[in-house]
Amino acid sequence: MGLLTEGSPLSWEDTKKYADHVRKHGIQQFLNLYHKRQGRTKDVLYWGDEVEYQLVKFDHANRRVHLALSTQDVLKKLKENAEKSDHESRAAWHPEYAEYMVEGTPGKPYGGLVAHFNVVEANMRRRRQDIQSVLNTDEAPLSLTVFPRLGAGNFTDPPYTPNPESGASRSIFFPDEAINSGHPRFKTLTRNIRERRKEKVCINVPVFKDTKTPSPFTEDFSSMDDVNGEAKRSAKPDHIYMDCMGFGMGCCCLQVTFQACNITEGRLLYDQLAPLCPIMLALSAASPIYRGYLADIDTRWPVISQSVDDRTREERGLEPLKEDRFRISKSRYDSISSYLSPGSFCYSDIDLTMDTEIFDTLVNGGVDKMLARHLAHLFIRDPISLFGENINQNDEEDTDHFENIQSTNWQTMRFKPPPANSNIGWRVEFRPMETQLTDFENAAYTVFIVLLTRVILSYKLNFIIPISKVDENMQTAFKRDAAVKKEFYFRKDILTESSPSEATKCSSQCRIECCVGIDDEYRLMSTNEIINGSDDFVGLLTMINTYLGSMECDVETQCTLQQYLRLISKRASGELKTTARWIRDQVADHPEYKQDSVISEGITYDLLKKVSKVSQEETEPSLLFSHHTMTKETLPPAITNTEKYLNKKNPGPRPENNTAS
Ligand code: ADP
Ligand code: MG
Ligand code: MG
Ligand code: MG
Ligand code: MG
Ligand code: MG
Repeated sequence: MGLLTEGSPLSWEDTKKYADHVRKHGIQQFLNLYHKRQGRTKDVLYWGDEVEYQLVKFDHANRRVHLALSTQDVLKKLKENAEKSDHESRAAWHPEYAEYMVEGTPGKPYGGLVAHFNVVEANMRRRRQDIQSVLNTDEAPLSLTVFPRLGAGNFTDPPYTPNPESGASRSIFFPDEAINSGHPRFKTLTRNIRERRKEKVCINVPVFKDTKTPSPFTEDFSSMDDVNGEAKRSAKPDHIYMDCMGFGMGCCCLQVTFQACNITEGRLLYDQLAPLCPIMLALSAASPIYRGYLADIDTRWPVISQSVDDRTREERGLEPLKEDRFRISKSRYDSISSYLSPGSFCYSDIDLTMDTEIFDTLVNGGVDKMLARHLAHLFIRDPISLFGENINQNDEEDTDHFENIQSTNWQTMRFKPPPANSNIGWRVEFRPMETQLTDFENAAYTVFIVLLTRVILSYKLNFIIPISKVDENMQTAFKRDAAVKKEFYFRKDILTESSPSEATKCSSQCRIECCVGIDDEYRLMSTNEIINGSDDFVGLLTMINTYLGSMECDVETQCTLQQYLRLISKRASGELKTTARWIRDQVADHPEYKQDSVISEGITYDLLKKVSKVSQEETEPSLLFSHHTMTKETLPPAITNTEKYLNKKNPGPRPENNTAS
């Protein structure tokens, strides 16, 4: 979830006093870094995935399953074991928001050779085994996006009672003990988001109305320590109500980061991948159950977005602006609101709230307007955690204040500048996807995205549509069965580049001169058409296969890749279910399910036992086809030698020493 610094967190009141200080120095730190690093070029492709896992503990005698609050012990052992193992297969382990989560990444990023695609899955498998090896036999690491009964009754092991009167979150459902206790940052964020907002966060997602679900669906919180009746007031009828950060940040996701050869390529990839975010969110949908109820949404996105929404009533537009500076239309966790490349200017068609002073500072400091807009937008936010010994920094050397704001803007895409004092280049992170149950699937989704970046760059593909349409697609993407039942705005002709020269002449979103015609450039398409193509649309898989056909690729890697592409193809066509649909069907078929949207402890136990089995055996006909990839933990020697040679010419990055969500 961003930079981890040891030390003592400031109260919200004190953090707020330093908000301008953090922003001012954060921007200065960016400017210094920008001038040092913007000319940096010829970096090579490095990339890596992040997979998050939930630790669960089965109680087979009583047919129960709980989240195991054991991440401190598990992470310690994992790190010790990683130190001992050989370098090549070593994984890197990171703490995450919840005391039942761990995040694993490859020990070092993968490189640009096609053969690297063949080690991802084996590395993921190794990571899962590594976690399993430090757990008891009745425990398992599940790459499941959300625990079905998160916040419902006793859901942790050991059990704890929520503390609505004095806890960090004040939740009536989620005890503070389920928040990561290893670093004060996590509870501080939780408390400060709530204090900044001046009330608890409020999450409402529509309940799935089954044949016997009460109508209206309402809950009685009176027996639950509902201090001041906040839950009663906040819970909407026909919605599942949740009240703290853990409901969102306690979900698992799958992220992919890649290094661009220079800042321009990074900005281009940031833009080009943004329209793919809703599509990949829908195709990776894996979370249809919240707090013990079936929801009418299939993905975590609206939950996590509301779970860290620190905007005040004034900022949300519910009261006139008095104390606060801006009306803000989105949560800190949301889709991106502007593109980064000059050629995409006319497509950045939504009102962008900006700190104009910061915009001016950046422009006067030599940053172009598109990049300045992006940063001046991120920097409308306050820092929400600050550590005493971190306040005064050397802006020439440090980037903590910049990272403070940057890493708490949790958006679909993240543009990552080179970290201070590293030889890492400009990077872009693709953040919308949900974790899949198996290593095969997680590898497939990861590789699909990395391949797409190669294809975008090789064929200069153009996916840009107005960003307002990308936002509409985000609203579609989380709906039930969106991957097969909904349509998304997508660019009709992806083979024609936009014309940056014309677009940069445009001084505002003119919509009359150079921006004219934009609305004819896109239309509604199903994910099937987008991925698999049609008479009118080439389809992303055709482009990827054309690219692969032009590459030197060993037979084993080729065989692996074809199976990954087949999975994505079948998910898009509906031939295979999304994880969310599969979970819904497991529930519907369960003898204990009463068609009332309630997910009992018994249903949860059986579902998670099945999930655990699927993640081990990787056979489940409606979710997967029978596959056999030739994934290997290490690259063949010939390729390792080529890599060594290339590395000598262009030394690889040292691993970064921080952690994030
Ligand atoms: P964060 O949590 O801040 O998003 P992490 O450090 O957890 O970042 O993971 C980022 C991913 O980026 C990891 O898979 C890592 O292997 C990969 N990575 C590390 N260095 C580079 C680099 N120079 N270029 C691209 N990817 C990198
Ligand atoms: Mg208590
Ligand atoms: Mg990091
Ligand atoms: Mg991370
Ligand atoms: Mg990340
Ligand atoms: Mg994470």
